[in-house]
Amino acid sequence: MTDTSARDFDVVVIGAGPAGGAAARAAAAAGARVCLLERAELPRYKTCGGGLVGISRDHISAAGLDLAQLARVEVDALTITLDGRYRVTRRRRDGSPILAMVMRPELDAALVDAARAAGAEVRTSTVVTAVRDDGPDGAVVEIRGGPDLRASAVVGADGTSSRAASYVGVRCDQVDVGLEAELKAPAEIAARWERRMLLDWGPVPGSYGWIFPKGDVLTVGVIGARDDGPAMRAYYERFVTQLGLAGLPRLHDSGHLTRVRADGSPVRRGRVLVAGDAAGLLDPWTREGISFALRSGRLAGAAAAAAAGGDLGALDAYPARVEAVFGTEMTAGRTLLKLYGRRPEVMHGLMSALPGGFSLFTRIIDGRSTVARQLGRPGVTRIVAALSR
Ligand SMILES: Cc1cc2nc3c(=O)[nH]c(=O)nc-3n(C[C@H](O)[C@H](O)[C@H](O)COP(=O)(O)OP(=O)(O)OC[C@H]3O[C@@H](n4cnc5c(N)ncnc54)[C@H](O)[C@@H]3O)c2cc1C
Repeated sequence: MTDTSARDFDVVVIGAGPAGGAAARAAAAAGARVCLLERAELPRYKTCGGGLVGISRDHISAAGLDLAQLARVEVDALTITLDGRYRVTRRRRDGSPILAMVMRPELDAALVDAARAAGAEVRTSTVVTAVRDDGPDGAVVEIRGGPDLRASAVVGADGTSSRAASYVGVRCDQVDVGLEAELKAPAEIAARWERRMLLDWGPVPGSYGWIFPKGDVLTVGVIGARDDGPAMRAYYERFVTQLGLAGLPRLHDSGHLTRVRADGSPVRRGRVLVAGDAAGLLDPWTREGISFALRSGRLAGAAAAAAAGGDLGALDAYPARVEAVFGTEMTAGRTLLKLYGRRPEVMHGLMSALPGGFSLFTRIIDGRSTVARQLGRPGVTRIVAALSR
């Protein structure tokens, strides 16, 4: 007979990003005794554009958070360029947002507050060094300086350098580097970017750059294959300079990796589940990851709470649920990245010149359509395959 009284918590969640916040809230709301561990003090900085797509906005509102308060700006216009040229601006006719822009420290702290309000205990400045399944006795989380914590189930939401992912054996076949600065913008520059963002289809295959406005701060960054590191660094510096922003004070200037899981990569080992970046769950083309983190975190938290209540089948079911929610979407993102990597000018043409191209893009960002659905349209598969050659 298993001695459950030896467990410190029902569920331990590692990492207080969007995946961890969502997991801890879901598990606590289901009645589990939850502990959320974070190595940093909160609020903590995270290199991220902070652009929220429709699915992220819906999730945040469903968690009871006030999106209007969290969002610094809602953007309804998009300027697109192809390696700095062929500039085109499109605006949504109904004024509804393309993206809502948040500061990640503020979003993540609000999600942690929601988890705390649901009953989770939060421990910051707590570095997890290892995690392992311990059979019927539960799972063990080792903490620097100790003592270990024991729980019925563990959710690893500890980002791209995840300890839990190493234990689970997550495999990733796409590693990108994002380089990004937060620039303090004087009033006239901030006014130029009011409610307007920019996307640049980059010169390094599969790369792109962005300006995400947040009032008197502009988040400017690029993302592309890590293997193209020196070319990405050169693209980043040129991008900022060409936009006339090189002289602005840099409040933050940092880089961060993103990793996309390989098809069939595990997301569970025994009582240890992984979610968000730790699981390699993000869109391969846009590298949008907040909606993936929020959704997978919620699934993992619910499964972990169910396991703590005796339903171990919920842990068995987690990989299939992840596949059902993200599998098709990620396969479509890979297909699009392949096309985009070879023919960025096609993407530029689709969005700038094709009637309905911009509106289709915004429908996908809103979550009202998907890349998979569009790629599955009659004839499209053949055209995409031909263009990707
Ligand atoms: C440059 C760049 C721009 C991006 N822009 C966007 C965007 O605009 N929109 C979007 O949707 N996505 C964007 N993304 C992706 C997005 O940032 C991630 O997908 C998202 O942060 C994943 O959330 P997460 O909770 O899984 O991981 P994280 O947000 O990385 O959170 C992990 C947490 O775990 C903690 N942690 C790590 N190790 C340990 C440990 N050993 N012990 C305890 N705690 C630990 C970390 O401190 C951190 O708080 C961007 C990514 C990059 C690199």
